[in-house]
Amino acid sequence: MCGFCGKLDKNSLCNKCKIRIQKNAICKIEDYRETSSYFDEHIYLFQYDGEVRDAILNYKFNEQSHIYRTFLEFIKNNENICAQIKKYDIIMPIPISKKRLNLRGYNQSALIARNLAKVLNIEYKENVLVKIIDNKPQSELGQHERSTNVKGVYKLKAPRNIYQKKILLVDDIFTTGSTANECARVLKENNANSVGIFTIAKD
Ligand SMILES: [Zn+2]
Repeated sequence: MCGFCGKLDKNSLCNKCKIRIQKNAICKIEDYRETSSYFDEHIYLFQYDGEVRDAILNYKFNEQSHIYRTFLEFIKNNENICAQIKKYDIIMPIPISKKRLNLRGYNQSALIARNLAKVLNIEYKENVLVKIIDNKPQSELGQHERSTNVKGVYKLKAPRNIYQKKILLVDDIFTTGSTANECARVLKENNANSVGIFTIAKD
């Protein structure tokens, strides 16, 4: 099923939507190495608005987990983005808490991350970076509260697994980057070589 229009389609992205979505896509690779952020770059596909925003919300909150296939199909068709992702050794999802996982039934970022790793033949690691505190959802907070809200909520298990590795963290939306930054901090402090962030959209 096409994640945008709902039409039956074996690739989960019909031709009509593909053409329209490609026109609206940004597909950016932003360099953060010269900033105070712990991550080195941010790769994203869309601005978080309009039908992309609707698709992400359905994907996240309306139990339409199949929409990950639509996004995956879009990524697969983008050579630039794929080449950039292939520079990484390991792909990981931004973790969600156990409580949230039980409520939603799936980690929306893990669905994309796992299948992206599979398609591009990159090592995939889940449950290495874990969320140990069930904090307030970032979406309920203002810009200022977001960075304190994520402090200390992530923990790395088995740090030797990431030693000197280039790690790509996958999430659905990038807003202030507080979550991405906190996860990247944990990875860098455990000797990751570099950390990139991949999101479907940027708000
Ligand atoms: Zn469609």
